[in-house]
Amino acid sequence: MAGRDASPLDVTGRVRPALAGFEPYDPAFTPCRINLSANENTHPLPASVTEAMRAAAVSCALNRYPDPMANGLRDLLAVWHGVKRGNVMVGNGGDELLFNLLFTFGGPGHALITCPPDFSEYANFAKMCETPVVTVWRDPVTFEIDVDALVAAAKADDAALVILTSPNNPTGNLVDPSIIRRLLDETDALVLLDEAYIEFSGEDASLVGWVADNPRLMVLRTLSKAFGLAGLRVGYLVADPDVVNMVGAIRQIYSEDVLAQSVACAAVSRRRELAPVVADIVAERARLEAGLAGIKGVETWPSAANFLLVRMPGASRVRARLRDEFSILVRDFSYAPGLENCLRITVGTRPENDALLDALAILAREEA
Ligand code: PMP
Repeated sequence: MAGRDASPLDVTGRVRPALAGFEPYDPAFTPCRINLSANENTHPLPASVTEAMRAAAVSCALNRYPDPMANGLRDLLAVWHGVKRGNVMVGNGGDELLFNLLFTFGGPGHALITCPPDFSEYANFAKMCETPVVTVWRDPVTFEIDVDALVAAAKADDAALVILTSPNNPTGNLVDPSIIRRLLDETDALVLLDEAYIEFSGEDASLVGWVADNPRLMVLRTLSKAFGLAGLRVGYLVADPDVVNMVGAIRQIYSEDVLAQSVACAAVSRRRELAPVVADIVAERARLEAGLAGIKGVETWPSAANFLLVRMPGASRVRARLRDEFSILVRDFSYAPGLENCLRITVGTRPENDALLDALAILAREEA
């Protein structure tokens, strides 16, 4: 039976004003032979790790609600990072934690400060949470952070949260620790360091060890990249226990399901066995970068992550032709301010990278 009126529903007119105009996230995914578009780990994991994860998955009691705080996983992560359980908050991917942080600490009069080009979800979630965004643009050539401008912005009365990404997505460069030091010493803002890709940056690159002595510093990590578990949806925050409690109070109580908790525990317990996979990706990154540098017209930036940003003439067309003619998917950033003619290419396996280099060499010639 039809309702009171049969005209189309005006959702836009009814929606919370801050959410008007939002559209479902489109990862621009097309099934392809080689997918190097989402910074996933495309390498097979060691059999010992996949077997442990499989066993963990089948041993779950799916009729029971999960542990809301994922304490078993928190304990393993705490031991790894040399902190206490109370310093760790697990989330349904880093994305959920980012949203929850903006929901918790943002809002009208509580500005977020970012250094674009960076991960677009920061500004997106901020907008959803009615949080003003102050942008301190990176150098257009080197993508280095303008630290004086950043500190000045973070000194503003309404500056609530600074998010920096190390290594940065999509530019690949690390944040110099002295920038974090200055933010902590000279401002009163919360500082979130997003280390989603830090495992690809070498042993000493993480600043997670700073959290214990710096209560305003928070570090975000994920199992989506180095651990090869993007589909599992597990991220975590290492932060002051009061921050963890506050975010814990607003989070969706059961967002981390029993399967994810169980499989993540198996993966984290065996994380040392993943070292060869990470080492291979790092070696392939160097090989891919050298290969790209050898293609006329292609410019690359050094990367400490599992992807490379490249600039080349006709990037959007190149991306479409890679997909349609070679069944290789990469991410187009040419629409993004500061990233004209840029593509982001995930470092794949050796055969995937070779296929990409061969295809790009042809397309670079044809699109020059
Ligand atoms: N931070 C950065 C910089 C990212 O690139 C991503 C994923 N693309 C995330 C956080 C979130 O990752 P996930 O939700 O898969 O943990």
